[in-house]
Amino acid sequence: MTRKLYYDDPMKREFDAVVVEAKPAGKRCDVVLDCTCFYPEGGGQPADRGSLDDIAVLDVRKQGEQVIHTLERTPETDTVHGRIDWQHRFDYMQQHTGQHIISASMIHVGGYATVAVHQGEQYTTVECDTAEIAEAQLQQIEELANETVGRNLEVRTFDAGESEIPRLELRRPPKVGGTIRIVEIDGFDRVACGGVHTPTTGQVGIIKLVGLERIRGNLRSAWKIGRRALYDYREKTSIVNTLSDRFSARQHQILERAEKLELALKQSQYNERATTARLCALWAEQLQRGTTVSGELRIVTERFEAEPPELFRGVLEALIEQPSTCACLVNVEPQRVQWIIGCSPDLRLEFDAVRRELLPIINAKGGGRHSIWQGVGSEPQHADRLLRCFAEQASRFVGNFG
Ligand SMILES: [Zn+2]
Repeated sequence: MTRKLYYDDPMKREFDAVVVEAKPAGKRCDVVLDCTCFYPEGGGQPADRGSLDDIAVLDVRKQGEQVIHTLERTPETDTVHGRIDWQHRFDYMQQHTGQHIISASMIHVGGYATVAVHQGEQYTTVECDTAEIAEAQLQQIEELANETVGRNLEVRTFDAGESEIPRLELRRPPKVGGTIRIVEIDGFDRVACGGVHTPTTGQVGIIKLVGLERIRGNLRSAWKIGRRALYDYREKTSIVNTLSDRFSARQHQILERAEKLELALKQSQYNERATTARLCALWAEQLQRGTTVSGELRIVTERFEAEPPELFRGVLEALIEQPSTCACLVNVEPQRVQWIIGCSPDLRLEFDAVRRELLPIINAKGGGRHSIWQGVGSEPQHADRLLRCFAEQASRFVGNFG
C-alpha cells in the first residue's frame, strides 16, 4: 500500500520516498513507492505531473491501494526525491474545490442537483438537472460561491463507514460502498470525493460563470476558477480596452457602437450591390452597341483587366438578358485569365464543342450549365485570340431553340 501524502497534506510539493518496486515497461519504467505526493487520476481531476530524481513522471494511476508512477526511465537508486508540478496541481485543487462550492451554491439557491462535472484544461463544467436557470438566479449562485470563498471556510476530509452515511446528509449519494472519503466545507457542503482540495475556500480565488449550454435536456455551465479567472479577466480587459480605443467609446458604449457599425455595413453592402447591378447594366448596354451580328445572332466579346469577379459576371448576366445574344468575356490578370461564356435563354449553346475547340487556346479549365459557363485559363497572353475565334465561330456553336 502506498502512503498517500497528497491526502495527508495537499499543500506538500516535495517528498522523499523508498522505491518498493521498479518494473521496466519498454523504454519506460513503472515505479511503486512507499509514499507519494503524486495524485493519480480520479474523480475528474487529472494526474499530477512532475519528477522523481529529475526523471519525468509521465503518468500516475491507482491500482488497488498502490499508486503507480510511469517514469521516462528506470531510477538508479533505491530512494528518490519527488517534486510535483505545483502550478498544475494547485490549479486543479482550485478547480475541484471551486466545483464543490458551485455545486453546493446551486443546491442552496435553487435546489439544482449536479449530475456531471468535468475539469478541463480550459474550463470546469457543471451539469445540473434542469434545462433552465433564470439570469437572476445564476447571478445569485455566482455571488454565493464567491461569498463562500471570501468567508475562507475550512475544507476538511475524513473517512466514514457505510452506517454513518445517512446521518451525514451528503449533497449527493455516494457511488461506492464500504468506507468512503468525505470532503466537507465547514457548514456549507458535505460530499463523498476522492480528489485533492485546497485546505480553505479562500485559496480557491475568483469563481466566474463564463458560458451556458443545454445538453441532454440539462444545463451545463462553464466556469473560470482561481488563477484562470484572473487570466481570463486580464484577456477580456485587454480586448475591451482595444475595442474601446478603436471605437473611441467607453466600455458600456462598445456594444451600441458595434451594432451601429454592423447596420451601416449592411446598408453599404446593399448600396454596393445596387450600384454594381446598375454599372453592369450600363456596361452591357454599351457593349451591345458594338455587337457583331451574324444573321439573327448578336455576338458580344470583351476583354476586362483585373475587374472584381462579381462585376465581370454581372456584365455577362446583363448581356444575356437581351434575346438572341451570346457572349464571351475574359478578365485578364498577370498570371491567369478568367473566362465566362453565356447565351440568352432562348438560345442553346453546345458547350462541349466550345470546350474542345476554343478553350485550349488559353489552356482553360471550368464548366457550368445552361446558360452560363466559366473558369480560369493559364495563358492570359492568348486571351484576345480566344475572343476573336469566339466572335468568328460562335454561330457554329449556337442554335436557336427558342
Ligand atoms: Zn469532488
